[in-house]
Amino acid sequence: MSHASVFPPVLSCRSVTSGYGDVQVLFGVDLRIERAEVVALMGANGAGKTTLLRVISGLEPLWSGELLLNDLPLDAVAPHRRVEAGICQIVGGSSVAAGLTVNEHLRLWASTVEGGQKVLETRLAEVHEVFPRLAERRHQDAATLSGGEKQMLALSKALIVHPDLLVIDEFSLGLAPKVVGDLLPVIRRINERGSAVLLVEQSANVALGIADRAYCMEKGSIIYRGDARSLASDPELLASVYLQGVAPGAGEVGP
Ligand code: ATP
Repeated sequence: MSHASVFPPVLSCRSVTSGYGDVQVLFGVDLRIERAEVVALMGANGAGKTTLLRVISGLEPLWSGELLLNDLPLDAVAPHRRVEAGICQIVGGSSVAAGLTVNEHLRLWASTVEGGQKVLETRLAEVHEVFPRLAERRHQDAATLSGGEKQMLALSKALIVHPDLLVIDEFSLGLAPKVVGDLLPVIRRINERGSAVLLVEQSANVALGIADRAYCMEKGSIIYRGDARSLASDPELLASVYLQGVAPGAGEVGP
């Protein structure tokens, strides 16, 4: 029996609408992430991807529809409670705080983990094993890290807290291809530790290189969902989905 049939989806968005002021941006978004899946959310600039992530994390209101984390309705749950409920969000390069060293970040995140000193030390050791660079720079102010190092530190949060859902916005923004290539296996490792991953990514290569499934958004609606490998291996479909909007009947659409 597959996990999908035993456990509820980690995240379920049904007919989600939202926007800013009286301007509607999301028009009935359906998206589902099963346990331990990596799902890419793709789409052109202004499609509404970040807005959807902000609705998921509680930074923008859900106008209508349903948002469930492990079957728990999120609409009345404050953003910090959503973090406690299992959502960890990383926003490309800006998920670290100036004035705190690398070690202070790690210790801060570790202080939220249950399980005592032993669990804490194991997780910190894993961060240093995965990112030896962070061990070297442990006393450095996070604001002075390079873009790649900042992203390493941000990903360390997920290595420490083991969230049910890791949400990453603009993963590769401003990073050299080599750095992106080095970090992708870390996302897979986090996923293998049991975290589902929702990755918002402009680069189709990057997104489809790591994701199990992909959603494509245009003008606030999901216009395609399907297996990432099928999409990656069908350049015509990819072009139609990504560049011009999907041709009628060309792909699956649904939750
Ligand atoms: P990108 O890939 O460029 O980041 P996106 O798909 O993440 O784009 P959003 O940032 O969600 O798109 O933006 C969707 C729409 O909402 C855009 O038209 C944008 O101008 C608008 N928008 C975003 N933030 C605000 C805001 N704070 N106030 C008003 N409108 C906003």
